[in-house]
Amino acid sequence: MNYIKGYRCTICQKEFKPGEVGLTCPHCGEKGILDVIYDYDKLKEVLTKEYFANNRNYSMWRYWPMMGIEETHIDEMLRIGWTPLYHARRLGEYLGVKKLYVKDDGLNPSGSSKDRASGVAVLKAIEAGARTIACSSTGNAASSCACQAAHMGLKAVIFVPKRAPIGKVTQISLYGATLISVDGDYKAAFKLSKAAIDKYGWYNRNAAINPFMVEGKKTVSLEIAEQLGWEVTDWVAISVGDGCTVGGVYKGFAELFKLGLIKKIPKILGVQSTGCCPFVIASKNNEPLKEADENTIADSIAVGIPRNPIKAINAIKNSNGAWIAVPDSDIINSMAILGRLEGVFGEPAGVAAIAGIKKAVEQGIIKKDETVTTIVTGNGLKDPANAQKAINAPVLMKPNLEELDKFLKEKGVI
Ligand SMILES: [Zn+2]
Repeated sequence: MNYIKGYRCTICQKEFKPGEVGLTCPHCGEKGILDVIYDYDKLKEVLTKEYFANNRNYSMWRYWPMMGIEETHIDEMLRIGWTPLYHARRLGEYLGVKKLYVKDDGLNPSGSSKDRASGVAVLKAIEAGARTIACSSTGNAASSCACQAAHMGLKAVIFVPKRAPIGKVTQISLYGATLISVDGDYKAAFKLSKAAIDKYGWYNRNAAINPFMVEGKKTVSLEIAEQLGWEVTDWVAISVGDGCTVGGVYKGFAELFKLGLIKKIPKILGVQSTGCCPFVIASKNNEPLKEADENTIADSIAVGIPRNPIKAINAIKNSNGAWIAVPDSDIINSMAILGRLEGVFGEPAGVAAIAGIKKAVEQGIIKKDETVTTIVTGNGLKDPANAQKAINAPVLMKPNLEELDKFLKEKGVI
């Protein structure tokens, strides 16, 4: 059994009962992305603070009653989630906020927060009796889908744009998926995957269309709240590409609020790169979303046509949050700062939110007496080529103590 009450269209707001619809709203077509809604009264009886205090499953699966899945297979799944939340004292001081927490979601099985959605996708595919799962992605969703499918014995067909970093592409093939590297950008990869899914009837993991992906992604917020003893920070900062992750982050907090487990919903700071920031431009000019260039090193958020705009826009609006864009140079700098001050290695998109916090503090959007949580969405080892832009190349040295002595003095180590 599960606790799903039905689905609500994000455009026309019409509600549907389970089994009444496919993945999208029949009235609004493909743009009619659905939200999963639950029997919250029933959930309230089950999901109490005591329930969580006594729950020994330290993974995102501990939240299964509010993830739209059956409990049947969760013990067979990889351990996804329950990633560490660090009180980042030194980085917090550098950014000028009262208290900063860093959630290192790069420590998931395939190295990114996308495992949260892919795990749910694989379970839903199994529930639907599918044998093959497919998705298009800028890289992380793809490698995580391949990873989770491999563990549960499903076939995976994965579409990536040609610019996907080699680390992520290597992961996909290593997990045994069929890799389609599309000669084009993310838009082209998405289009081809959609046509193939329509033709072959594979289970569709494309995050924007499949409403259950948000149900996985929102678990990051459930963990943050629980790890903070149900006292959430004033802000949560997250990088934004397609819009699904930020939509999930908001839904997680909004549902905890509805269940009476937290007293407020954090303001959400949506961060994009200035090289690809359709949400920031639309919000600044108060106009509908327009297609943007995909010109950033933060490949995971290089999404010119976000596929889930409504959930993302609502997340920022309904939480009284803000949008902000940061240049790639700030993103590269954040990679180095996060590594140096906290010992956490994030990929460019994973640390973009940290650059966003810095700018938001400078602009007075985040006040100095406010607390902030940021989510590092992907591991830096996935994209070492870009990480090298944040560091000095190593110096090769003769095995000679005098030479070493000179070098250490120059560096101020001794
Ligand atoms: Zn609709």
